[in-house]
Amino acid sequence: MDLLHSQLAALQQKLSFVATDPIDWKFYVQAFSWGVTLFESYLLLRQYPLYSKTSPPEVLADHFDAEAFTKSQNYGKDKAKFSLITGLLKQALDSAMLHYGLYAFAWNIGGRSIAYFGYGSEYEILQSLAFAIVLFVISSIPSIPLSAYQTFVLEEKHGFNKTTPTLFVTDLLKSWAIGFVIGMPFLAAFLYVFGWAGDRFVPWLMAFLLAFQIIMVIIYPTVIQPLFNKLSPLKEGELRTRTESLATKLKFPLKHLYEIDGSKRSSHSNAYFFGLPWSKHIVIFDTLIKESKPDEVEAVLAHELGHWYHMHPTKLLCVSQVHIFTILAMFPAFLHAPQFLRAFDFSQAVSVRPPTIVAFLLFQMILSPLEAVIGIALNFLSRQFEWEADRFACEIQDRLSAPEMKDMGERLSRALITLHVKNLSTLWVDWLYSAYHHSHPTLTERLKALQAYQSKRDGAAKKEL
Ligand SMILES: [Zn+2]
Repeated sequence: MDLLHSQLAALQQKLSFVATDPIDWKFYVQAFSWGVTLFESYLLLRQYPLYSKTSPPEVLADHFDAEAFTKSQNYGKDKAKFSLITGLLKQALDSAMLHYGLYAFAWNIGGRSIAYFGYGSEYEILQSLAFAIVLFVISSIPSIPLSAYQTFVLEEKHGFNKTTPTLFVTDLLKSWAIGFVIGMPFLAAFLYVFGWAGDRFVPWLMAFLLAFQIIMVIIYPTVIQPLFNKLSPLKEGELRTRTESLATKLKFPLKHLYEIDGSKRSSHSNAYFFGLPWSKHIVIFDTLIKESKPDEVEAVLAHELGHWYHMHPTKLLCVSQVHIFTILAMFPAFLHAPQFLRAFDFSQAVSVRPPTIVAFLLFQMILSPLEAVIGIALNFLSRQFEWEADRFACEIQDRLSAPEMKDMGERLSRALITLHVKNLSTLWVDWLYSAYHHSHPTLTERLKALQAYQSKRDGAAKKEL
């Protein structure tokens, strides 16, 4: 522990310029965030002309008829336009909020609202909670019409929307209520740990965040998700038998097998698993069950179990711990720097003893270009995991000595194609756009790889004979 703290102290020494040098932080944040937004707009402009291509890539030509292809191109085009406009609009709003010192304003409103109830600025956690609410209200107002447009115009036009206006409003209110019920105690505890641990907050805060993540894994599916969707046990039948037998053979600790009514809101479809290491649950969307045959859904699940087998969620959790550690390790230099807050229009009185939440929020803005780079790296890693899970599905016959699974790769290919056709997913993808945004390889890439795994495996099997 002492070694950790001496290393952290050395890092703070390196960053001590934050407290001493006069730096126009606000200008940097403006430049960084516009830089990221303009780069994202540039990527959309690279991708956009591909939506005008008139035929699908060669490998997919047999699977997409002209109608399905045109539909997916039109959907892609509309989504790209929407992303371009909303991206620029959101950035313009954020930029204006920053320019006009809205964060300092929100902090003062927070202070005034707690003063109304007789609490002074010495109640920093209370004022922080009020500040968070004010900021939340200010920033969520413009996003409501955008989200309504996306659901009722864009998704509706392409036949995906199943949400009614009543459902839209109740969903919104429910998610706010949940955000409040979970977010407020979380924020209060987070700030409390900060204050309590003093300069030695890094390991304590990491332990706190890890505990919070684990608690969320437990309560999300049991408490939160049922508020939005209905999870019902998967009916007896071929799919259930196949899934249970697959789980048993792989020693996957399957506790519950659910079907989720994803079709209540949208026709997009999928499957996933979650839970603690010794008790897992698999959830399959009703839309996937409707659109694919049981043996194809089984192949999708084989892919999902490949993620489990290769411990992808655990690996991602470790990566996120390193990420959190880096952020926290750099933070004190910004927390103990009144000049840093002054650069964002906070008054002298507030800046002298910087409130943790304010310093942390502004510090996050400074990190935006770094976060963009980390996002690219994480997407890259996620794509590697997808390849690995596809390969797992393809080679499962050898792992389980189950010759009846020899066509798992083909079944997965068929399921992926169906998913793409039904979801009108984009078929032509610009490589840079994909490297930045995609957590999954493109369909073309996956089909090619699945074929390659299959023929490599068949070749190896022949040699053995
Ligand atoms: Zn996957």
